[in-house]
Amino acid sequence: MAELAQYQRVLIDQDTCISCGACVAVCPWQALELDDNGKARLIWDKCKDDFSCISACPVNCIYKVGEASDALKAKQGWYRFSKELSPDEQKAYEEWRSKYNVTAPPV
Ligand code: SF4
Ligand code: SF4
Repeated sequence: MAELAQYQRVLIDQDTCISCGACVAVCPWQALELDDNGKARLIWDKCKDDFSCISACPVNCIYKVGEASDALKAKQGWYRFSKELSPDEQKAYEEWRSKYNVTAPPV
């Protein structure tokens, strides 16, 4: 799915997140949620790169994936899928992971 392949998306440093929910409220695509620990988590297949969540975060713990450190990209827990991916979507996911050197698996 070409559309899914074009977005870089955002990474959340869940160790810094204070669970305020501001990013969840501001995202126009419902691409963020709070996980069972109250930490923000990205729903990978819903994000469309408008980045309003980044400026909404009071502790600046949301990064464009292309600008996040490798250490943050290796931390587990910050993204999941909303559904089982189709083969095309899976391919887009693999391309994204490789392009941005995301080593953490989805939740
Ligand atoms: S970049 Fe935009 S679409 Fe993606 S999670 Fe942030 S606010 Fe939502
Ligand atoms: S805005 Fe920042 S601190 Fe608040 S829930 Fe989102 S990531 Fe966490």
